[in-house]
Amino acid sequence: MGEFELIGRFFAAAPCAQAAPAVALGIGDDCALLQLAADEQLAVSTDTLVAGVHFPHSPDPFLLGQRTLAVAASDLAAMGADPLGFTLAITLPEADESWLDGFSRGLSQMAASCSLVLIGGDTTRGPLSLTVTVFGRVPHGQALTRGGAQVGDLLCVGGNLGDAAGALPLVLGQCVAEPAIAEALLAHYWSPPPQLALGQLLRGRATAVLDISDGLLADCGHIARASNVALQIECQELPLSAALRRFDQVDALACALAGGDDYVLAFTLPAARLADLRAQWPAVQVIGRVTAGEGVHVLDAAGQAVDPPRSGYQHFGPAHD
Ligand code: ADP
Ligand code: MG
Repeated sequence: MGEFELIGRFFAAAPCAQAAPAVALGIGDDCALLQLAADEQLAVSTDTLVAGVHFPHSPDPFLLGQRTLAVAASDLAAMGADPLGFTLAITLPEADESWLDGFSRGLSQMAASCSLVLIGGDTTRGPLSLTVTVFGRVPHGQALTRGGAQVGDLLCVGGNLGDAAGALPLVLGQCVAEPAIAEALLAHYWSPPPQLALGQLLRGRATAVLDISDGLLADCGHIARASNVALQIECQELPLSAALRRFDQVDALACALAGGDDYVLAFTLPAARLADLRAQWPAVQVIGRVTAGEGVHVLDAAGQAVDPPRSGYQHFGPAHD
């Protein structure tokens, strides 16, 4: 199977590559063309997943297809963007049909749930690596950045924290868990649902937003720096799934604070807007507040500062050695 047959069968003909109103031109030409209205801005983000770094070698291709797109689509959620399309640059060691079939189905399933259309890409041979670029649209000036948190705002998250970090030792085969726990945690690792609907609800409401990819503490640090404020996180308010709390091989609180791969939105919100938002997104959880100062501070139930676990994965940082 040559490059063009591969692209045609597993990508251009996949359900995720079918026509959509905002895609004026899809796969097959030198560029795709996206249709934007005059009062919209284009939101663009790229993510690369490398075998052995971002996922174990030889994962299930269907699950990998889902995860590859979910991770990228989460950035659109974090900007409050409406999803349009995505490109896929895929580097493969070989053209294995059953692998490509599984990957393409996983990709299409996640694309359908995110309303994203595959509009192009690149296909090369080499060690397995996947780069997805997502495109979304935002009404002019309404994108949700990290820089607007105000002293007095609430710090909130859009769902449970730590499940993907709890799943990691299972993904790596370092331990086992009873089936119900393993299933729940692994589902979040392989198929974290991008919080696109929440992101759109946060437009005009939240003052700063990001998606938690590197761990709550590390990512809240980005909001604190960009907004020039301090963030206080109250440990006992962190929402933890039943599966994570019951999994005795991991420290649930450390997973929630410092584990990566959650792809849940963290945001700051004026308190007066909480009830209205909760009515539409009941999973919103207040986990702390914005204060004057700098940095991220973790408080215990008594309001005392606690030493946080080592935070945030950085490819070239201290967590790597
Ligand atoms: P070019 O040589 O102009 O860069 P290619 O030959 O690489 O184009 O690709 C042909 C067409 O197939 C282009 O429209 C490109 O966007 C698309 N394409 C290539 N690889 C993929 C892929 N993995 N997924 C989706 N579309 C792809
Ligand atoms: Mg090319």
